[in-house]
Amino acid sequence: MRDDFTAVEGLWADVDLPAIASEFGTPVYVYNTAVIKHQYERLVKAFDVPKLALHYACKALTNLEVLRYVRTLGAGLDCVSLNEVRLGLMAGFSASDILYTPSGVSLNEMEEAIALGVGINVDSISLLEQLGQAQTEVPVCVRINPHIMAGGNSKISVGHIDSKFGISIYQLPHVLRIVEATGLKVHGVHMHTGSDILDVAPFLAAADILLDVAHKFKDLDYIDFGSGFKVPYKAGDISTNIEEMGELLSVRFRDFCKNYGREVALCFEPGKFLVSQAGKFLVEANVVKTTPSTVFVGVNSGLNHLIRPMFYESYHHIENVTNPDGKARIYTVVGYICETDTFGTNRQLGEVREGDILSFSNAGAYCMTMASNYNSRVRPAEVLIHEGKSHLVRKRETIEDVISTQVGTGLFEQVNAEIS
Ligand SMILES: *Cc1c(COP(=O)(O)O)cnc(C)c1O
Repeated sequence: MRDDFTAVEGLWADVDLPAIASEFGTPVYVYNTAVIKHQYERLVKAFDVPKLALHYACKALTNLEVLRYVRTLGAGLDCVSLNEVRLGLMAGFSASDILYTPSGVSLNEMEEAIALGVGINVDSISLLEQLGQAQTEVPVCVRINPHIMAGGNSKISVGHIDSKFGISIYQLPHVLRIVEATGLKVHGVHMHTGSDILDVAPFLAAADILLDVAHKFKDLDYIDFGSGFKVPYKAGDISTNIEEMGELLSVRFRDFCKNYGREVALCFEPGKFLVSQAGKFLVEANVVKTTPSTVFVGVNSGLNHLIRPMFYESYHHIENVTNPDGKARIYTVVGYICETDTFGTNRQLGEVREGDILSFSNAGAYCMTMASNYNSRVRPAEVLIHEGKSHLVRKRETIEDVISTQVGTGLFEQVNAEIS
């Protein structure tokens, strides 16, 4: 039986997580370039087309050193905000290797992206019309919503009929009318149907729709199939069968190019697939608390650092890395935030002693980038492991960082001085 989780976890075998926790302190995010490289190469190998372009969807993990590393692999970047575009440029990506795929932004923001020289992806009829009327010479990519239901849960599935994303496939005649009337140049078509797509069949159904749409545009340079590949979260979990999907989509894509009369590039924008298992999150057990029903482990972190278990009900495998061979006991692992922030219930861990280091898997994607200062706690440090060495790539925040944007007015000083 396939066990995609365990295969990739093997790349962590030589990493001494307790040593990293002692050197850099906890809580700390740890990223492993070997995993990113493995996943990138797996994706490249899965496709057999003349032109393949992978744009890393950097909202998953935006540390500049990670972006610089991803660039060494030959990837481009997919950005969903102008600041992500700026981070990409800072990391050394050329503007032509960056695609800007925001949702619901104003014409102003699009014009700023155009000025920065990056590719732009248009997500609404209104914006398409405005860009057309602005008589821009810049070619655009059009995001189509094929309305194929896919994805892990309603928060991350973006292809359904009620979704805010993309231009509905049923509005294609309207799109073509705008293009014809304004002379707008369309050089790409795009879809992104959601995250955690497990079955290849609905993905291919959506891809077929996009390829049909592509025939309506005569000057395409690329067709972008987005992302949303499912990753495994525990032993025995299976993920999107990339190899099978690659083979089936490549056949369709080569056929498309033949009929289209030109070699266009096949693009993907993987986020989670590249970096999810490339990250571990290390925390310390603050307290072991037994109640009539449960043994809780309270750790020095919470939903402020890792919100996915509470927000998406996502599973993150937890291990006691300082007592891995301890007698296995059942725990519920919780955070220190004054809300119910449960990381995992009924988990078997080697007996937990206060001070033990627990490690969360799949902590590379949508973890640090979704962290906050809730409860006025600081965000964790980040460490990058490359070729056997660990490097600090983000310092732990301090209280000064947390208040650095606040502005005092002096309005209440006098009254407060009087009452003290
Ligand atoms: C978030 C996003 C992705 C990446 O999705 P993953 O599930 O992390 O692979 C790709 N494309 C666009 C447009 C996105 O918004």
